[in-house]
Amino acid sequence: ESMTTEDAEKKELVREMLKKQGIEFILTKFVDIHGVPKVKQVPVDCFDDVTESGAGFAGAAVWGMGLGPEGHDLMARTDLDTYCQLPWIPNVAIASCDLYVDDEPWFYCPRTNLKRMMGVLAEKGFALNCGFEPEHFLVERNEQGELTPWDPLKIDNLAKPCYDFKGMCQSMNYLQDIIRYGNQMGFGIYQSDHEDANGQYEINFDWTNGLHAADRLIRFRMMAGQVAGKYGAIATFMAKPFDDKTGSGAHLHFHLADAESGENLFPLRPGETDWKGLGLSKTAIHYIGGLLKHIKAITAIASPNINCYRRIQSGEFVYSSTSGYTWTPSFASYGDNNRTHLFRCPGPNRFEDRSPSGMVNPYLLLAAQIAAGLDGIENEIDPGDAIVGKNVWDMSIDKRRELGMIMLPQNLLEAVEALEADEVVRSGLGPIGDEYVRLKKAEWGEFMRHVTPWEVDRYLTVL
Ligand code: GLU
Ligand code: MG
Ligand code: MG
Repeated sequence: ESMTTEDAEKKELVREMLKKQGIEFILTKFVDIHGVPKVKQVPVDCFDDVTESGAGFAGAAVWGMGLGPEGHDLMARTDLDTYCQLPWIPNVAIASCDLYVDDEPWFYCPRTNLKRMMGVLAEKGFALNCGFEPEHFLVERNEQGELTPWDPLKIDNLAKPCYDFKGMCQSMNYLQDIIRYGNQMGFGIYQSDHEDANGQYEINFDWTNGLHAADRLIRFRMMAGQVAGKYGAIATFMAKPFDDKTGSGAHLHFHLADAESGENLFPLRPGETDWKGLGLSKTAIHYIGGLLKHIKAITAIASPNINCYRRIQSGEFVYSSTSGYTWTPSFASYGDNNRTHLFRCPGPNRFEDRSPSGMVNPYLLLAAQIAAGLDGIENEIDPGDAIVGKNVWDMSIDKRRELGMIMLPQNLLEAVEALEADEVVRSGLGPIGDEYVRLKKAEWGEFMRHVTPWEVDRYLTVL
C-alpha cells in the first residue's frame, strides 16, 4: 500500500517529534474484543516498519481476532495521528494501531471496525463527537487477603464519601499524577473527585471525535493502572467490585456534528419546532430513538461481563441502605437534566448516556451506537415523550410500563441474546458481532458452573 503525499509529510513530522522528545521505543497498541490493550515494544529505528507494514502478532493468541493458529500474521500498523509520549516513561511513545492481515484492513480489530462505522456516519453527513467520564476504584488486599478500598491515611470509612476532602487527600498525589500525565498526553483533564464509594474516583477530560475518544479511554485506563502501581494500589475499572458500594461507570457525553462544517446538529435548527420540549433537533431526537430501540443489544456491549449486571440491577435496588443511591440506570428512559435517566440531556448541545460500565470496550460501544442511531435517523424513530422533572428510580413498575420504559437486561445472557437477535446493532460490529456472541455465551456458561458464596449461605441449610 503506497502512502499519500499528505501521509508521507505527516510521517516526517512524527519522525522529527520522536527525535525531539528523545523517544527510544514505540508501543504499538491495539485492543482485543474485551478492550484489553495489547502491545509490542519496538525500537524507534523500526518506525518505518511499524508505520508501513506494522508489528506482527499471532492472532490466535488474542481474544476475538477471528484467526486460528494457522492464520496469517496480524499486522498492527500505527496511526500517525496518535503518536504520543508516555509521560511516566518519557523514552517511550505509544501509538494506536489498526490491524491488517495480508495487507487488507482486518475488521475484527475493534478500532478498524469503528473507523469503518465513522466512515458510514460521514457518508450520511455526520460526525460523532464525544467524551467518556471514567470512574474507577483504588483497592488493595488487607492482611486477611480481602479486597478493600485503598486507604493509605487509615481514615477507614466515610459515611457519605462523594466529593469528600479526606477521601481525596488519600489519593491526592495519585490524582495529581493522573492529571499532569493525562494533560501531557493532550487529554484536557479539567476535574477530578472522590466519588460515591470509599476509594472511588472520577476524572473528567475533554471531548474529541469518536475514534480519538475511544483511544483516550484506553490510554486513561492504561495510565491509571501504572500510576496506581507506583503507589502500591490496584486501579480497577471493574463495574461492581463491592456488593455494598456504588459501581463504576464510564458515562458517555455525545452529539452529532455536521461532517463538513463541524457544526453541532443537536440543538434545535432554525425554524424547527421544539418537538420534545428539550430544545433538541429532529436529528438528535431520532438518534436517541434509535439508541433506545436497540438498547438491549447495545447493553451487551456497554455492560460486557457478568459483573457489570450487578451495577445495573433493577430499579427497586437503586437505593441501597449502605451506599445510598447507586446513580446507575436500570430502565431505558430519556429526558431532562436529571441523573435518574439513562439518557440525560444536560442541555440541548448534548446527551449523556449513563449506562456504560467502566469495563466498556469503547470502540465497540461507539460502533454499535452509530448503527443504532443511524437506524433512528433513517427510519425517523420516535423515542416517545421525554420524561421531565421526575425521579425515574422511584416510579412504580406500572408507571414505568405506562411510560414505555423497558428494563435493561438483568444479566449477560439476556443482553447477548438481544444482541444476537438485533441485525442492526450487529451490522455495526461487522465480523466482531458473531465472535462476541460466541465468546460471551461461553463466558456465561463458564460462570454458571461456579457455586458462589451467596448461594451456599442462602441454600445450604434452608431445608
Ligand atoms: N457510579 C455511578 C455509575 O455507576 C455514576 C455516578 C455519577 O453520576 O457520576 O454509573
Ligand atoms: Mg461519577
Ligand atoms: Mg456523568
